[in-house]
Amino acid sequence: MAQHRFQTEVSQLLHLIIHSLYSNREIFLRELVSNASDALDKLKYLTVADDLYKSISFNPRIDLSFNKDAKTITIADNGIGMNEADLVESLGTIARSGTKAFLEKLTEDVKKDSNLIGRFGVGFYSAFMVADRIDVISRKAGETAAWKWSSDGKDSYDIEAAERDTQGTTVILHLTEEGAEYTNRWSIEDIIKRYSNHVAFPIYLTYDEKEYDNKGKEKSSKTKTEQINSGTALWRKAKSELKEKDYAEFYKQLGHDGEDPLFYVHTKAEGTLEYTTLFYIPQKAPFDLYHADYKPGVKLYVKRIFITDDDKELMPTWLRFVRGVIDSEDLPLNVSREILQQNKILLNIRNASVKKLLSEFKNLLENNKEKWETFISQFNRPLKEGLYQDFANREQIQELIRFKSTAAEGWTSLADYASRMKPDQKHIYYITGGDEKTLKASPLLEAYTAKGIEVLVMDDEIDDIIIPSAGKYKDWELKAVNRAGADEELGEKQDKHAEKEIKPVIEKIKKALGDRVKEVKLSRRLHDSPSCIVADENDPSIQMAQMLRAMGQTEMPDIKPILEVNGEHPIVAKLKDTDDEQRIADIAGVLLDQALLVEGVKIKDPADFVKRLNRLLAG
Ligand code: ADP
Repeated sequence: MAQHRFQTEVSQLLHLIIHSLYSNREIFLRELVSNASDALDKLKYLTVADDLYKSISFNPRIDLSFNKDAKTITIADNGIGMNEADLVESLGTIARSGTKAFLEKLTEDVKKDSNLIGRFGVGFYSAFMVADRIDVISRKAGETAAWKWSSDGKDSYDIEAAERDTQGTTVILHLTEEGAEYTNRWSIEDIIKRYSNHVAFPIYLTYDEKEYDNKGKEKSSKTKTEQINSGTALWRKAKSELKEKDYAEFYKQLGHDGEDPLFYVHTKAEGTLEYTTLFYIPQKAPFDLYHADYKPGVKLYVKRIFITDDDKELMPTWLRFVRGVIDSEDLPLNVSREILQQNKILLNIRNASVKKLLSEFKNLLENNKEKWETFISQFNRPLKEGLYQDFANREQIQELIRFKSTAAEGWTSLADYASRMKPDQKHIYYITGGDEKTLKASPLLEAYTAKGIEVLVMDDEIDDIIIPSAGKYKDWELKAVNRAGADEELGEKQDKHAEKEIKPVIEKIKKALGDRVKEVKLSRRLHDSPSCIVADENDPSIQMAQMLRAMGQTEMPDIKPILEVNGEHPIVAKLKDTDDEQRIADIAGVLLDQALLVEGVKIKDPADFVKRLNRLLAG
């Protein structure tokens, strides 16, 4: 017998589950049945797709039993099974690195919000809420050896050789006092009906049916085995046969989610291609939405046989929050998972699914304000990613996404913005590169505010990357106000006289700042502030360069800003009458650094800034 220690993260997860999910502990059965169902799916696929497994005679089923006196519940399947290495890998570690990171954060956050853990697929370990020891006896399909994994769910587990007649897995829960309340026929049937009725394989329950005489003494006892779920793939049923509650139950099983879905879309296509799709939109964004190694939410079936649940190509990445099933009649059963990506049939199904989902999102927007608000608050950001990933659907996505704005509280759509545009306004303006408060206070907005032109406030860090490639909305281009050319159509003619007069001042500043700036210009967009910085048309913005560098892009070149100054501002005017080099250098330095600071950019030499400022204040 070999003893192994749990990976630290597993111990953390166990601790978390036991302490925060306890009030909902009956879900352990849903999780174990779901694992059994996955194991059956996997073997079923291999027996049709892989010659090595074709000889396995296989009648997929899940068997439940219990023993009141011994306080045990047993869940057995005849699926793919696990060998020794699989047991260590699957029941001793957490493989996805994003999951590990999430767990670390969760340990903190769960103290505040215990619902969080419900959004996280807790899986096998949830059984430790009701059991103080779990034995897993498993034999992998195609192998003869069986193994027993055993643990009390604290720090370690044991693995030893065991016996099992056929392939598959048997999970034996040794229940705690409280867990023992589930050792009766009615509790188990009730939980299965509620959570696992539509698992696509039959679930059997074995129990003793006892008869009593009129004195209450046991007369006879018969062991019975009965199927307790409906055992059909839910998505294959007609919509008219299904109730909201059936859809919700199936979703919870499929999406490992404690909450009902926000809505679902069930489609049967019967044209050149025949397929069924059932998609769900969760109430809350999945925990790993922004992890590179997120788990895809859509499963592929061919004629009800499971093919894969780990293919990121089934949905575009911007729709990775969608959960559900695609079941095709036309794909060959032995389709290799590797070539799925290039498969034309699948591509067609995917395209049609994206269109269908987009039209449902629109439907929500037009007909169900409450659900729409929930939806957009959770998924605005992935939809924005779609703006630059999915050219073919750009127009529909543009109608859905929301931004903050200088003209309205809360969220604004591009259509709302367009309806408020000035008659002669040629572009849609936006500002990026900081949080909402910093952006709304930016001197770059002064001229727009003065003219009553609305500017979209893009405070999401991905906006800087996405919006420049987002193209036009209808006939209007989206223009960043922090670009050198953006002020051209503000309509204020450059005053030639003023320009001439200010030229020497500009020269002085330029000389004093040297290579800290790309250019110094007289501004047309400032009203109250003395200076602002903008980026050259083709440069990334300074904030973006700063972000990329923080993300580890070290070869990012130093982006120099263009400094614009307000010729009418008294500080700038002071430069007219002085030739004192120290004073010019101080004023120029402060004009630049304060413009950087107000845009939320870290200045290179704060001590130098303070020194210059103090000298100016004292003088
Ligand atoms: P998840 O199911 O979300 O991956 P679990 O902790 O429930 O997480 O299970 C971890 C892994 O253990 C599964 O991915 C699977 O590989 C394996 N596993 C669990 N139960 C079974 C089973 N009954 N048969 C075969 N493999 C199983």
